[in-house]
Amino acid sequence: MRWLTLLAIAIGGSLALVRVRDRPSTTRGSVILWTLAAELAAALWLFRWYAAIPLAVLFTVFGLAVLSLWMERKMPPAEPDMRARIARLERAKDHALRVLEGPWTSDAKEAYFGTVAAYQLLRGKHGGTGEAALAIAQSRAEQAASALEGADAEEFRAAFAAGRETLVTLLPPRPADKAPAERVLRRGENSFELPCSVCSAPAVLIHAQGEQIAYEGITKSTTIPADGEVFALLARGELPALHLRLQRHAVLEDGIDGYCPQCDRIYCARHYSPREEYDEGFYDCTRGTCPQGHSRILDD
Ligand SMILES: [Zn+2]
Ligand SMILES: [Zn+2]
Repeated sequence: MRWLTLLAIAIGGSLALVRVRDRPSTTRGSVILWTLAAELAAALWLFRWYAAIPLAVLFTVFGLAVLSLWMERKMPPAEPDMRARIARLERAKDHALRVLEGPWTSDAKEAYFGTVAAYQLLRGKHGGTGEAALAIAQSRAEQAASALEGADAEEFRAAFAAGRETLVTLLPPRPADKAPAERVLRRGENSFELPCSVCSAPAVLIHAQGEQIAYEGITKSTTIPADGEVFALLARGELPALHLRLQRHAVLEDGIDGYCPQCDRIYCARHYSPREEYDEGFYDCTRGTCPQGHSRILDD
């Protein structure tokens, strides 16, 4: 019975410590001190004085040891792993700085520091900003790698991909996807929205702008000359025909950038996963892959 009392206090103190584990260390310290004081009071009451102090300390330390073992097990193993991945990217960056010149050195730096920033932001529960930082870092990494050659390029890409792989697991959970009620939403007289067929996020906006038509897609924003047929096709929801119609304009030679012709569906940037491709350090095109695995050039 007397032992059980000491054990109960140790468990109570440990549970209190779990509750304050994210608080400053002074709070955690005072929980430990209070547990120790309670153990001591109980031990003095239950045992002879010369046995009380060692028993109180023993039970408190025992409780803490069990607790720290338990918490250790629940810690994600990602941390030292991510440190190693960041170190690998840093080595690749340092090597790139020795090999590259001009603007590509800053691409290599931005890829590295963007990854570090994304890691800090995602750990600090700033998911949205962290995700944006990661997207920029990815684009910079691709540009830097394209300016490198052979094994250097491969290592830079692989080092960035390894870091990104861990960061993606830290992204905050998203609300469940909800498909839109309609393929084309009318926003006004000559104003239309094409929502993502998976999550309903606005993917493409097409609206009259003075004498022209403004186009805001997932990879570009531009304007084309007035074309009554474009609005007529939107009003009828004829996306395949609209996709072809827009290709008549040089600035939209790849059609609706959020549209997968093979699925006949619209996807937002998140679901079409646009990836910028670079050729020897210069922008080449943006390629997208839809959730069904269809790949095409969205912007050239
Ligand atoms: Zn989407
Ligand atoms: Zn598709």
